[in-house]
Amino acid sequence: MNVSKLEEKEVLIIDDSPAVGILLKEFLNKLGFKKIHSCQNGITGIETFKEIIKSGTVPLVFLDYNLPDMYALSVMTQLLSIRPDVKVIIETARERTEESIKDLIAQGAYQYLAKPIRLEKIKETIETLKNEEMELATVDTLDSVVNLMSNTTQISLLRLSQYLNKTDEEILPIIKQLVSNKKITKINTIKEIACPKCNHIRVAQMFHCPKCKGADFKQEKIIEHYKCGNVSTESSYNEDKCPKCHQLIKVFGVDYRMQDNFYACNECKEIFSEISINYLCLKCNDKFTLEHAKLLSSQGYSWLR
Ligand SMILES: [Zn+2]
Ligand SMILES: [Zn+2]
Ligand SMILES: [Zn+2]
Repeated sequence: MNVSKLEEKEVLIIDDSPAVGILLKEFLNKLGFKKIHSCQNGITGIETFKEIIKSGTVPLVFLDYNLPDMYALSVMTQLLSIRPDVKVIIETARERTEESIKDLIAQGAYQYLAKPIRLEKIKETIETLKNEEMELATVDTLDSVVNLMSNTTQISLLRLSQYLNKTDEEILPIIKQLVSNKKITKINTIKEIACPKCNHIRVAQMFHCPKCKGADFKQEKIIEHYKCGNVSTESSYNEDKCPKCHQLIKVFGVDYRMQDNFYACNECKEIFSEISINYLCLKCNDKFTLEHAKLLSSQGYSWLR
């Protein structure tokens, strides 16, 4: 994304009042915008928008809330459905309540501009836009965030920033944008295991045998033969014969019982039900146990499908 080019963006003004259109154009010219299209109603606004898109660029849109021919929010929705990344600034005639502004933003408007339109207000809006684009450009990872998020149902702010190697300040504008575009939504905070040395949550779990610490083991069912008390893996009961007393095991629940979720070590032959877990920090290679791990909480987000 090229930051210095914001003024080179095309602008589309959809407003039925020629006076407002001319004023807006004048202000935008002053701020450096040169390619400005004006339309007096929703229908031609949408048509013009499509033509601009065809020419390979996404215009900045100023949309009057009170259009004669169409409900302005429906115009906005149509523009958004053509280009979800279009920034629509809604001009509203009267002071709006906090609530109705929130609604506009929730529906996908980028900003609102109260009438009467003043140069200062437009300047402010353009500045915000510039700052946001600049932040996005430095992060340059909107796609990475989207990728990371779309691969999981939930993700924490901590994970996003650490995985992308960015600060929270760099990530938050992107999050804000994705939230306002209804791509993601805020959920509960998420607690994650972090390296006690470097605080990184990019850690791998390492499973091993509690006896020999080897990592070579498999999941097994175990059989206990009541008569002789032998406890060993199902596979050790060759042809249903107990490996200890060599008698046939016959009736389940009477002669023997079977239990799932056991593990047999291929190295030391230990049978165990609880795997030992250690952690390896993928950042600094520190190895640590759960007792020594750090638990870090951060805001969670969920992808909206
Ligand atoms: Zn570490
Ligand atoms: Zn072992
Ligand atoms: Zn036996």
